[in-house]
Amino acid sequence: MDFEISSENKLIADTVRRFIQDRLAPLEAGIDAADEIHPAVIHALKQEVIALGLFGYNMPAALGGPDLSVEAQCLIDEALGHTTMPLAEAFGHLPGSLRAANADQREWLVKPLMHAQTTIAYALTEPAAGSDLSAVTTRAERVPGGWRLNGTKHFISAAEHADYLIVLAVTDKLAPLKSRFTTFVIERNNPGWKTLRRFRKMGWHGHPLSELALDDCFVAETHVLGQPGQGFLTMMATINNDRLMVACKCVGIAQALTDLVLPHVRQRKTFGAALSEHQAIQFMLADNDVELDAARLLTQKAAYLADQGSVEFRIAASRAKLYASEMAGRVADKAMQIFGGAGYMADLPVERFYRDVRAFRIGEGTSEMQRLQIARHVILNA
Ligand SMILES: Cc1cc2nc3c(=O)[nH]c(=O)nc-3n(C[C@H](O)[C@H](O)[C@H](O)COP(=O)(O)OP(=O)(O)OC[C@H]3O[C@@H](n4cnc5c(N)ncnc54)[C@H](O)[C@@H]3O)c2cc1C
Repeated sequence: MDFEISSENKLIADTVRRFIQDRLAPLEAGIDAADEIHPAVIHALKQEVIALGLFGYNMPAALGGPDLSVEAQCLIDEALGHTTMPLAEAFGHLPGSLRAANADQREWLVKPLMHAQTTIAYALTEPAAGSDLSAVTTRAERVPGGWRLNGTKHFISAAEHADYLIVLAVTDKLAPLKSRFTTFVIERNNPGWKTLRRFRKMGWHGHPLSELALDDCFVAETHVLGQPGQGFLTMMATINNDRLMVACKCVGIAQALTDLVLPHVRQRKTFGAALSEHQAIQFMLADNDVELDAARLLTQKAAYLADQGSVEFRIAASRAKLYASEMAGRVADKAMQIFGGAGYMADLPVERFYRDVRAFRIGEGTSEMQRLQIARHVILNA
């Protein structure tokens, strides 16, 4: 494994960092306070990212994406950890299930998404089914010309303004998990797609999560994504990449906090000495440093295995997701302690990172789900 970053990847990372600093950072606090981002603002930012050639950075060439290595995608995700969730959307991380799109769907669905003319959300989670997808009850019945969907989905990111929704529904309730579901694409103007409410939540301000109902929602045959009965595999196609993305974002958040903390401990004086001279503070800095380095190494190893096409990628992504998401929470907690009262105030982004990072232990498979997978792997390979 080579730790040297290629000059091409360095250029990509520098470009993203510069864009965040110049174009996104000035907007962060306002969007967080308002818990709202104007669709025109994010649309304009996406056009700028398209011009940089980085929009849809996780998409392969076959879908019109930049076809980046996983290592390069990780560098982008780490940089995006420095900004907020709604603004990171400017880079267009699109659902991996789009890889199942057929030739027609690539024209009417994927192309406009890649040009940021439309947006998309994906809906797996339901009030009684999150970690345990075998409990999903949204069902799709065959009707002439297509399917009729009924059910409720909740905690769905960015569905409020999305033009399309990718939905996982049961099509054969007696079948094993892998052949029980089908994945559908629903259009915004479908009268059967109803938004029930927007959740009030701790962080990710400006990035709404919704509850929605599918009420006798007719979906044409042309809008089945992937093969009928293959919905679970369609939805899970890039789950390891998505977990790695979370890990890299968390490394970015911990780095951003470190970048805030270090000048502060040199400048702030208590009892006649800089904070950096107090051993209690030094120990927190040391712990943060080791944890951040360990998490970054786990992400680099997972990216390397992904780019090698190794079967070990799956478990490496779980390890990275588990460790980095928990690490970033600990780093945020210590950063707030080091800043004292100033860390708790919204003048600095420390409290925002503290709030935002918590969700990463829940989404894309909770910490407990990662531990279960890792434990199974450890026991099977003992
Ligand atoms: C910010 C955010 C954004 C999200 N965006 C989306 C989205 O866009 N689309 C979407 O479909 N979903 C989305 N989700 C939902 C997310 O995927 C689920 O919240 C997550 O999968 C956990 O499911 P749950 O909330 O139902 O918790 P549960 O599954 O009810 O779990 C509750 C707790 O029990 C633990 N637990 C469950 N089973 C076990 C077990 N066997 N052993 C040990 N512990 C267990 C879990 O780890 C968790 O701690 C989002 C969630 C958040 C917070």
